[in-house]
Amino acid sequence: MKRRDFIKNASLTGVGLAIGSSLINCDEAVSDKTTEQNNKAIHDLYGLPLVVATWHVKNATAKAMEILQAGGNALDAVEQGCRVEEANEKDQTVGKGGLPDREGNVTLDASIMDKHGNCGSVVYLQNITHAVSVARKVMEDTPHVMLAGEGAKQFAISKGFEPEDLLTEASKDAWEKWKVEAKYKPIINIENHDTIGMLAIDKNGDISGACTTSGLAYKLAGRVGDSPIIGSGLFIDNEIGGCVATGLGEEVVKTVGSFLVVELMRQGKSPQQACEEAISRIVNKPNSNYKNFQVGYVAVNKKGETGCYSIHQWFSITKYQDGVNAQIQSDYYNKA
Ligand code: ASP
Repeated sequence: MKRRDFIKNASLTGVGLAIGSSLINCDEAVSDKTTEQNNKAIHDLYGLPLVVATWHVKNATAKAMEILQAGGNALDAVEQGCRVEEANEKDQTVGKGGLPDREGNVTLDASIMDKHGNCGSVVYLQNITHAVSVARKVMEDTPHVMLAGEGAKQFAISKGFEPEDLLTEASKDAWEKWKVEAKYKPIINIENHDTIGMLAIDKNGDISGACTTSGLAYKLAGRVGDSPIIGSGLFIDNEIGGCVATGLGEEVVKTVGSFLVVELMRQGKSPQQACEEAISRIVNKPNSNYKNFQVGYVAVNKKGETGCYSIHQWFSITKYQDGVNAQIQSDYYNKA
């Protein structure tokens, strides 16, 4: 039986699908099989393991899936997946090669959250490529959630991260060109931003997520976006699902976007419906100037269903599920 058929049948017959602490304990339809067979059946039905990420990052989702297929957990998968883009100098919005702030400094924001609701983040981190791994160290090796600036950098160095210059020639050139006009308003270019937010469900049915970015290009020095703010750029609730955001972080923060999406799923909305509702909260604000900025969400629920939605066209996600690593174009609000 295909996953979709099972879900349809389950809702018709009243068999409870697992939106609980564990997928493997909640399925009565396969209760006559051994636990191992049950696990496999449920993984097949729900299309697990699963990785989904913002934008076109097939190498990153492939890395995460490699870890999940080998039996690794979702936390390792999202960290390693994000690291692929952080190391990719051609990606000018993440890690090394990220576009700088208006003073010419590359400053990174990142966060990570596990199945227990533990989380860590770094803001305004300089000279360290793998911000997501520093965020994980904050989560695992300190009693804190967030470290900023010089403190975050010194912490990273104390944990063995090598400091390096993150401003590549290409990003420096782009900054030099930007300086000619130096437009002050922090309006995000609708087609050109790609914070990497990644969500994974492992073979145990557990969910983790991570987010990493160099933030808004040519931002004011000191500006921090949504990506390292737990509940805004990222939120995981292992009983329900997870969400990550991309786009103009200020608008995501003002609506606590990722937390909102997860809470909407808790109330019974599908990931798709929840993403659409979260976008509608932004665009339907009185005096919203949504035509000038982009926000996109991608979400996953405990059943391995995914959803994504953005304000404008051209938001895409990469989903690796059922053996297919595919870029998917998101539906969007502004069709006028
Ligand atoms: N959300 C990021 C920020 O505001 C930017 C992006 O997604 O490109 O920092």
